[in-house]
Amino acid sequence: MDEPLYRRLHNHLFPGDYDEHGAVIVAGISETERGTRLLAREVLLARDGIDYVPGTRGYRALTAQFVAEQSDYCAAQNLCYLAVHCHGGLDSVGFSGDDMASHERGYPALLDITNGGPVGALVFAREAVAGDIWTPQGRFELDHATVIGPRVRQLYPNPRPRPRHADPVYDRHARLFGDLGQEILSGLKVGIIGLGGGGSLVNEWLSRLGVGHIVGVDFDRVEVSNLPRVIGATRWDAMAWLAGRRSKWWQELGRRFASRKVHVARRVARRANPDIRFDAIVGNVLDERTARLLTDVDFLFLASDSIQSRLVFNALVHQYLIPGVQIGAKVPVDRKAGTVGDAFVATRPVLPYAGAGCLSCHELIPASRLQEEALSEGERRSQRYVESEEVAEPSVITLNVLSAAQAVNDMMMMFTGLYHDGVNLRHQINFVRERLLTEVGPMADEFCLDCSDTVRSLRARGDRARLPCRARA
Ligand SMILES: [Zn+2]
Ligand SMILES: [Zn+2]
Repeated sequence: MDEPLYRRLHNHLFPGDYDEHGAVIVAGISETERGTRLLAREVLLARDGIDYVPGTRGYRALTAQFVAEQSDYCAAQNLCYLAVHCHGGLDSVGFSGDDMASHERGYPALLDITNGGPVGALVFAREAVAGDIWTPQGRFELDHATVIGPRVRQLYPNPRPRPRHADPVYDRHARLFGDLGQEILSGLKVGIIGLGGGGSLVNEWLSRLGVGHIVGVDFDRVEVSNLPRVIGATRWDAMAWLAGRRSKWWQELGRRFASRKVHVARRVARRANPDIRFDAIVGNVLDERTARLLTDVDFLFLASDSIQSRLVFNALVHQYLIPGVQIGAKVPVDRKAGTVGDAFVATRPVLPYAGAGCLSCHELIPASRLQEEALSEGERRSQRYVESEEVAEPSVITLNVLSAAQAVNDMMMMFTGLYHDGVNLRHQINFVRERLLTEVGPMADEFCLDCSDTVRSLRARGDRARLPCRARA
């Protein structure tokens, strides 16, 4: 769940009266090999004495009418129903016998009403949560809950065992964020879309940080002109000896046998951390099959230039509640005049909650550009060489570093809990020729189809909505 939603729920459950209170969370769902996640989309607070009343069997209960209304809503929206209440205590919590008995009485019917749910219950203490989740396949205990904000936190039913001592390799890390911080990093699965200049830097740094699992997505091969920027790429990767030949035929052969950028990235990552798991995906996030490989990452970097990939990235963030960041550089050149315009690099964190700076709300996914890209794709493929000669934008490694470093630092600070309370992860734009670092305030469209809470939005629907990928051939 996102932090604003958690805060609203928490304030309702723990107003300071040490009594029990209730609510319902309406959630989407994401199922992958890594596990099943319920994605909190809305919280509906039960009014004390009206919706949440003294129970006939337990201490208090949601009224039958409240349950019926909310479960009907979940059924109509094809979402999951989770009843919530609170117990006393701080970092340890579990259901009472009365709680469990009421689940056994009520949930088989609720599963039917909601077309298989899942349905279930969560019980919160101030810093803990336990869950009893019912699905047509069986009954499951909630392992943990994740609260996504500038500090990403996990809540468990009981206090965690002390973390292992960090590997001596990470001694200097552990002095900053503790053995726990290092353990958190090693447990992360992080996606990188685009492993060119910016993405290859992100990859190098993530693997040196000790991130345990990287999913790299790129379909491109290394070209000679990438060598000054793509970390780890060699002249051999670029088939430089063929690219340098005069004959187009040899050049084409060189392009065809050059290394994929994701394979270079895998080599770099393994050199930095032999224990890393690296999924090298030769593909395009515009294809649904590829995009779906990113639905269970803990964090997502977008380091590709296309507007279409921004569309998919933005959807992954909001539909699957995955925090992410987009990086890039823009160096406008007036070809006729031969002058360089106002160059800037951007670091744009995109947190999966409304008002936090969705790329669509910031008008960074213009429909006209989407169309342009879709239309010219065929042409571009056939004239690729000509195009890369003529339209390639200026690009320099030191510019890429400016946006990539802030982005990886944001991720590291979020997951190790180093950011101060209330830090605002605004977009940062660095106008490099003025040496001027500026921030862009959050913009949110209340009807945004990605990040808003309107009935039509895809936010937190997970697998229950389609990703905006291109139609399958
Ligand atoms: Zn209870
Ligand atoms: Zn939005």
